Amino acid sequence: MNIPKSSFPRIIIIGGGFAGIALAKKLSKKEVQVLLIDKNNYHTFQPLLYQVSTGGLEPDSIAYPIRKVLKDYPNFFFRLANVEEIVPEKKEIITNIGAIHYDYLVLATGSETNFFGNTEIEKNGMEMKSIPQSLNLRSLILENFEQALLTDDLHQRDALMNFVIVGGGPTGVELAGALAEIKKGILPKDYPDLDTRRVQINLIQSGDRILKEMSEKASKKAEDFLENLGVQVWKNVRVKSYDGKLVSTETELSFEAATLIWAAGVKGAAIKGLDAKELLIRGNRVRVNEFNQVIGFNEIFAVGDIAGMESEEFPCGHPMMAQPAIQQGRNLGENLVKLLQQKPMQPFIYKDKGSMATVGRNKAVVDLKNFKFQGVYAWFVWMFVHLFFLIGFRNRMVVFVNWVYNYIRFDREARLIIRPYKRDYTRFKD
Ligand SMILES: Cc1cc2nc3c(=O)[nH]c(=O)nc-3n(C[C@H](O)[C@H](O)[C@H](O)COP(=O)(O)OP(=O)(O)OC[C@H]3O[C@@H](n4cnc5c(N)ncnc54)[C@H](O)[C@@H]3O)c2cc1C
Repeated sequence: MNIPKSSFPRIIIIGGGFAGIALAKKLSKKEVQVLLIDKNNYHTFQPLLYQVSTGGLEPDSIAYPIRKVLKDYPNFFFRLANVEEIVPEKKEIITNIGAIHYDYLVLATGSETNFFGNTEIEKNGMEMKSIPQSLNLRSLILENFEQALLTDDLHQRDALMNFVIVGGGPTGVELAGALAEIKKGILPKDYPDLDTRRVQINLIQSGDRILKEMSEKASKKAEDFLENLGVQVWKNVRVKSYDGKLVSTETELSFEAATLIWAAGVKGAAIKGLDAKELLIRGNRVRVNEFNQVIGFNEIFAVGDIAGMESEEFPCGHPMMAQPAIQQGRNLGENLVKLLQQKPMQPFIYKDKGSMATVGRNKAVVDLKNFKFQGVYAWFVWMFVHLFFLIGFRNRMVVFVNWVYNYIRFDREARLIIRPYKRDYTRFKD
């Protein structure tokens, strides 16, 4: 990997997401050598992926080069690589560009889509966990409309214009709202020769309310917002299968749809060598103690979505969200310095700053600890918070200008099919 030898201890961080970057920043100017490894050379701001999928933002505006984050830090190195295995006995990691030794290792690999073992849905459905996947979805949505224009078969046309979103969490809700706005504001102008009133957006939730992690008031309001926008919200419905044409559920309900978007769950992105069943908690997360130290391994830590820190307050670990990831990254940064100075480490205590979701223009729901509100004011708060947490001044400016433009013009100009979407079945062996 061509990393120089150093008299400082080597800390390897796998993953330049929210947790990995927060940790790296805390270690700047400390007497350590830091090697950050990521399979992408950019950090992805996942909360805005749905805007890329729906043509509201260009992908570049929610991505940030990891090298630029680290450019002013001495003793920092970045390598673009996929970590394939961890060998704790040798204190070594194996990547596609070679192996390297660590003194301390931090897993900050985040999470991946959880299809709960349903390979048929995984094969035929769409996911939205990365920028390439969001671009695939953007292309597919637009290609469906181009196809719908070409067919005389009304049945087929309806299926091409039927979007089924599975999962009523923030991702599903935000995506459904954005698609509904496209239906209302953009499609009639772009496709005057297509009856876009027939476009359907179906949001399916297995439980009895959407946004179940938020207050009941927020759930109810978000559902009202969606229904006013024309989204059909189906609750207590569990999707069973999808063959690329028909979405079957465990009830009598089924949908003929050319697009199924799976937003029904994520699981920790564990790596071989630290993925034994006994090391993981529910959701495929690596079990850690209150210092984010992987149980049984003094030199290995995990932060963010991949970290499963069980406690009385959080029996299944902290929510898989940006705030716990950032806070854990920062706390571990301070703890690693303490550890090297042989001082006692501080346990991680999560400060819940609240949660929020947007449904569309002037429509959002915000739950703070002592204050819950919805509507226009919530929408402005949602926008401000997302701009604040985006990395990079340019990205903030570009996103802000885009939002103002889209607001004034009722537009989404990134509705481009840059590379046509092609289903890739090669990763499925049979
Ligand atoms: C569509 C969507 C919307 C979301 N909306 C919100 C929201 O509104 N609010 C909120 O708080 N949270 C939201 N989240 C969740 C939030 O993005 C995650 O909780 C957060 O990103 C977790 O941070 P992390 O650092 O643990 O992992 P990530 O940010 O996922 O970073 C993990 C990094 O590790 C790298 N990596 C993984 N495996 C390897 C490997 N083997 N080798 C090399 N590199 C590897 C990845 O490339 C990635 O850069 C959303 C997530 C999604 C997908």
